[in-house]
Amino acid sequence: MPIIRVALDVPVNTLFDYLAQDVTAQDIGVRVCVPFGKKQVIGVIMEVTTHSLISPSRLRQATHVFQDIPPLPASLLDLFRFCSTYYHHPLGEVVMNGLPGRLRRTKPVAVASVAASRYCLTPAGHAINLSAISARSIIKRRLLAGLQESGGMNIEEVKRLSRRAPAALQEFITLRWVEETLIAPPLTADSLIEITSPGPVLTADQESAVNDVAAKINDFNTWLLHGITGSGKTEVYLRLISLLLRQGRQTLVLVPEINLTPQLEAIFRTRFPAIQLVSLHSGLTPGERVNAWLQAQRGEARIILGTRLAVFTPLPKLGLVIVDEEQDTSFKQQEGLRYSARDVAIFRAKHANAPVILGSATPSLESYYNAINGRYLRLRLQSRAVKNAALPVVRCLDTRSARTKEGFSVPLIAALEKCLALHQQSLVFINRRGYAPVLLCKSCAWTATCHRCASRLVVHLREKQLRCHHCGHQERFPSACPKCGDQDIAPFGHGTQRVEAALAERFPKARIVRIDRDSMRRKNAWQKILKDIQERRVDILVGTQILAKGHDFPNLSLVSILNSDASLFSTDFRAPERLFAQLMQVAGRAGRATISGEVLIQTEFPDHPLYQALRRHDYDALAQTLLAERKTAGFPPYVYQALLRAEALQIAAALAFLARAAAIAKAPEQVEIFDPVPAQMSRLKGMERAHLLIQSGSRKQLQEFLSGWRSKLDALSTHKVRWTLDVDPLEF
Ligand code: ADP
Ligand code: ZN
Ligand code: ZN
Repeated sequence: MPIIRVALDVPVNTLFDYLAQDVTAQDIGVRVCVPFGKKQVIGVIMEVTTHSLISPSRLRQATHVFQDIPPLPASLLDLFRFCSTYYHHPLGEVVMNGLPGRLRRTKPVAVASVAASRYCLTPAGHAINLSAISARSIIKRRLLAGLQESGGMNIEEVKRLSRRAPAALQEFITLRWVEETLIAPPLTADSLIEITSPGPVLTADQESAVNDVAAKINDFNTWLLHGITGSGKTEVYLRLISLLLRQGRQTLVLVPEINLTPQLEAIFRTRFPAIQLVSLHSGLTPGERVNAWLQAQRGEARIILGTRLAVFTPLPKLGLVIVDEEQDTSFKQQEGLRYSARDVAIFRAKHANAPVILGSATPSLESYYNAINGRYLRLRLQSRAVKNAALPVVRCLDTRSARTKEGFSVPLIAALEKCLALHQQSLVFINRRGYAPVLLCKSCAWTATCHRCASRLVVHLREKQLRCHHCGHQERFPSACPKCGDQDIAPFGHGTQRVEAALAERFPKARIVRIDRDSMRRKNAWQKILKDIQERRVDILVGTQILAKGHDFPNLSLVSILNSDASLFSTDFRAPERLFAQLMQVAGRAGRATISGEVLIQTEFPDHPLYQALRRHDYDALAQTLLAERKTAGFPPYVYQALLRAEALQIAAALAFLARAAAIAKAPEQVEIFDPVPAQMSRLKGMERAHLLIQSGSRKQLQEFLSGWRSKLDALSTHKVRWTLDVDPLEF
C-alpha cells in the first residue's frame, strides 16, 4: 500500500507517514484526515512513497482522503517549502496556516459554496453502468445520467435535478467518479477585457515605467517603482495588469492595509468591468475567503487583491505581482510564521518567472539599497500626475520659541483658520490614539502602567478608561493616585481624542472627524467617512497613520503634524526611516488636486536632517544619510539578521534558555552571536521577553548556520520557555 507523507499543524519540523489506499502521485497536495494520538486531524499530502523509516506494523491508516477540491498546486507546495526553509519554521505549520480556515477543518468544503465549478465524470465514473446503482437511488441515477449526457455540469444544474443532488454529487466525488475541473473558461477574446474607460494619457514618467516593464513582461525581475506621492503609481499598475489580462494571466496585488482594498478594488473594477477580481483579507467571512481562494486556484479570478495573507493564494497562471507601499511594516507577520509578505512575493514571482513591482514613495532602505546596487531595477516617477498639482510646501514651526496651547502653536491655529475660511480641508496628524498617552500624578510622579506589559496605559477620556494598546487590557479611571492618594492626577501629553476636543473648542462651527483605530471599529465606518470627505462634509480631519496611507483627498490643502519628535531619538535603528516614510505619506495627502498644499510640522528640532530632507521632498538625501549610518554601525541592509526570541513568566528563564542556545551555537567566523538581552518591550501579556541577535554579512552563511542550530534548539526547550526564530526581524 502506498505511504503518504503528511504535513500536520504541529510544531515539529517533520512530515508524518501514513498508509493510504489507492493514493498516487496525483494526490500530492490533497487534504487528508489522519489519526494523530487520540485525535483525528487534517493535513496535506506532501509526498507519496513506498517506504518509511517507521516500521510497517506501526504505520497507521489515513482515515479519509478529501476529493472536495482539486489538489493544492505544486507551486504552492514549493512556496510553503521555501518559507519553511527560509524562516526555519515547521513545514506542517507553514502549510496549514497558509490555508483558509474552511480547508483546515476535518470535513469537506460544502460543494454548494463553491460556485461556478464544473463537475465531470472521471474515467472511473464513465465506466459505471447505470444499472450498477440501486433502482431505489433515484437521485444518484438521475445525476449519473445527467453527467453522462451533458459531459459536465455546474452546481446550479446539479441543484435543478433535485434538492438532494448536491449530496449525491459529493458522494460521487468521494468515490472518485466525479472531479471538479480546473480549467477556467478560456479568456482570450479581447472583448472580455473591454476597457470602458481607457484611462488618462500617461505622463512621460509613467509611460517610460510602463514601457520598461512591458519590454520584460514575461521575465522575472524585481522592479522598484519609486514614485513621489500623487505621481500616479496606480495607473502604472493598471496598464501592466491590462497587458497580463490579455495574456490570460493572473495578477497578485498586495496592499498593506485592509482599508485600502475597497478603494483599489473600485478602481480595478471600473477599469476592468468584465474581469473576475477577488479580494482577500481578514475582514472576510470564512465562506467568502475560501470561495475567493478557490476562484484563484481555478484560475478564474484574474486579479487577486489582498493583504499579506493573500500571498499564499494558489495562482496557477500567475503573471505579475505588485506590492504597493512595499516599505510598510504590516507586510511582516509578527507572530507564528514571521514572514515578510513582500519577500515571499518576490520569491513567488521568481518561481513563476514573472515580474514583481514594489511600489513606494519612500522605499524601505533594503529595497532602495538593492535598487542602487542593481539587484532591483528602479523606475522613477518624479512629478505629480495631475496637471498643476505641485508638491506641497513643507515648513517647520519651531515650538521652542512659539508657545503652544493644547498642543497647537499660534501660527498653526492661524493656518487652520485660514483653511476654514477658504472652505478647504485640513488634516491634523498625530500618531497616538486615545486622549493622552500618560496618566500622571503631579505630586509623586506615579504613572498608570499595564500590569501585564512593560507599557503605560493610555487615557481614553470619553470612555473613562485606561487602556493598554499592547494587550487590550482596560481598567476604570482611578479617582486618586494609587501610590500617594493625591487626587491631582491628570492626563499628560496628547492623543487624537484630546486634539479633537481642543479643535472642537477652538473651532466650534467646524465639522471635525477623528480617524483612528477606535473610531474605525464599526464595519464600513471608513467607507462612510471617505465619502463624507470626498463630498466635502468634513472640514478638519484628525487622525493617526491610518489616514496617511495611500488615500486621495482632492480638497485637502493643509496638513499639520504634531508630536513627531519622539521618534527622532528612538533606540530602534529603523525609527527614522519609518518616521520619514510616514511623514512623507501624510505630507503627500496635501495638494493632490489643483489646490496647492501646505505642510506644517511642529517641532523642537527644525534643523534635524530628517525634517530638512522632508522640506525638500528629498528622499534620496535622507536615504543616503541613513544608509551611511547603517553601514558604519553594521546594521541592515549591510548585514543580515535573525533573532531567537524567548518568553517566559520570569525573564531569568528566558535569558537562561538563550544563554544555553548561545553556548551550543558553533557559529562560523562570519556569523556573529550577540549576548542575550531583554526585548525592548520587555513584558507583554504577562510574559517576560528576551532575545538573542545573530547576524552576518552573508545571507547564505547565516542561513546555513541557522539550519544546523535550529535542529538542536528543540532539545534545549523546557515547557517554561516559548521560543521562535525571527529571520529578518523588524522589531526588537
Ligand atoms: P500615487 O499612488 O503614486 O500616490 P495615485 O496613483 O493615487 O498616486 O494618483 C494620484 C492621482 O493622479 C489620482 O487621482 C489619479 O487618478 C491621477 N492620475 C494618475 N495618472 C494620471 C495621468 N496620467 N493623468 C492625469 N491624472 C492622473
Ligand atoms: Zn501620587
Ligand atoms: Zn498590556
